[in-house]
Amino acid sequence: MDTQLYQEVFRVLFTESKSELFIFREQNWEISEFNENFSNSFKYDRYENKKLTLKDLIKEFGESHSIIQFVKSGAPTAYLKDVVFLDRHGLRFTMDLQVSRLFLDNPVFLCNIIYDLDKKETLRLNYEYISNISHELRGPLTNINGTLDILQKNKQDTLDSESHSLFNVIQKNLKRMKVLLDNLLLLDIKKKKYSSEVYSPCASINEAIAFFEPSILEKNLLVNKNIDCSVLIRGDKFEFSQILHNLLSNAIKYTNKGEIKISVSKHSKNIVRLEISDTGVGIPEEYNSSIFNRFFRVSSSVGGVGLGLWIVKELVERMEGSIQMYSTPGVGTTFILDFPLVDYAS
Ligand code: ADP
Repeated sequence: MDTQLYQEVFRVLFTESKSELFIFREQNWEISEFNENFSNSFKYDRYENKKLTLKDLIKEFGESHSIIQFVKSGAPTAYLKDVVFLDRHGLRFTMDLQVSRLFLDNPVFLCNIIYDLDKKETLRLNYEYISNISHELRGPLTNINGTLDILQKNKQDTLDSESHSLFNVIQKNLKRMKVLLDNLLLLDIKKKKYSSEVYSPCASINEAIAFFEPSILEKNLLVNKNIDCSVLIRGDKFEFSQILHNLLSNAIKYTNKGEIKISVSKHSKNIVRLEISDTGVGIPEEYNSSIFNRFFRVSSSVGGVGLGLWIVKELVERMEGSIQMYSTPGVGTTFILDFPLVDYAS
């Protein structure tokens, strides 16, 4: 076979294969190629410019891991049993791995994940199950919310102050449930349709502040707003409001006194900057690199599931933006989000 034919055979086998295949290099353990099946199972997009390494894919990847030992041994091929993989969202599953060395001088390896059909099905069901439950729960929740609003309006003149505050407690908790369910619905973000439009962030910010007003009042927090309503950004409006909901609900949840600042401004020629800061408990520096991980929580003393910031980061990246966090324990936390400036509203 000539080289061109070899290359074509390899390309077809690689792309058309029904197994999950990927290729990695010893240098930096970078995953340089993967096929469609791998992309579907691990939720990584082949056309996205995200540098993926074995550290992202294999749990407890390190010098003592069997895959490194195989690479260092110089052997041509190995069958590794029970390798624990992590998908893009940190969901973990155990599979066997067939690794074959492609080149000797510049070590490149072809990997074939040998999966158990039952395990793969369980993984798929996990996502579908969570997503279906959240969808189902949203209906009755919207219903309860609507009914409560009507009831409150109809009885407004006759309610005593105790009943008023009870209504507020119910409403506040329903809102927390809504944010949580919306986060669960976004768990399999890649499956969600992205409806992009150009808009000013102004209305979404005002709506988000109004949404949390009862909790802001209850904690006696000040809200300091400085929004340039003429800047326009591009993205999915529902997702943008979920970014605001998650960051604001954290700012309120982790702040007992002081203020929450929200600003939007043109930061540079092409960047719109959104800043949300609080005077809350802060986040110790040692957690800086894990704060956006799925299910990560600093402490379990306040309620939560550790999904909010992970979802925020995913959604910001879908808008081609970036997010940074600065925090000082006991002083407060600031989240800085940069988005491409699309235009100015005239
Ligand atoms: P959770 O549901 O636990 O709030 P998040 O993903 O939204 O999940 O946040 C992850 C962790 O980051 C939280 O458990 C909390 O410890 C910390 N955190 C997030 N936002 C703030 C904030 N504004 N101030 C202090 N800690 C925060």
